[in-house]
Amino acid sequence: MSLDTPLSEARRQIEICNACRYCEGFCSVFPAMTREKSFADGDLTHLANLCHNCRGCYYSCQYTEPHEFALNIPAVLAEVRQDSWERLVGPQVFAKAFHRSGVAIAGGACDRLRAADGSDCIPAACERRGVLCRAIA
Ligand code: SF4
Ligand code: SF4
Repeated sequence: MSLDTPLSEARRQIEICNACRYCEGFCSVFPAMTREKSFADGDLTHLANLCHNCRGCYYSCQYTEPHEFALNIPAVLAEVRQDSWERLVGPQVFAKAFHRSGVAIAGGACDRLRAADGSDCIPAACERRGVLCRAIA
């Protein structure tokens, strides 16, 4: 990433995409992008949260490295997305703590739930906590 912040780098890359538009049919990011001529921080956050990180545009792009434009839309949108979650999800103290130690917090929460209902933990069979348990297994 060549610019200082994820938002400024995303703006640089999105403006190139908005001129190119080769990936218009790939996902909802590109049609949403073409509605704008300039991109405020909120626009970029919106676009970043439409991206599901399939990487289709990266593998199709003629402007990835070693091209001097060095585009990597999935990576820069992931950074903007992560940054937006940290800034906008409350309470802030938990947002930052979860970013630093998400696995430990998820594990602790899972243990507390298990202790509360006295159940044996069988992650593969647990509908209520399956996603959480698979994430920390
Ligand atoms: S990712 Fe590359 S190919 Fe796709 S729209 Fe952007 S500049 Fe064009
Ligand atoms: S990586 Fe994101 S922006 Fe690129 S095609 Fe997939 S969903 Fe769309």
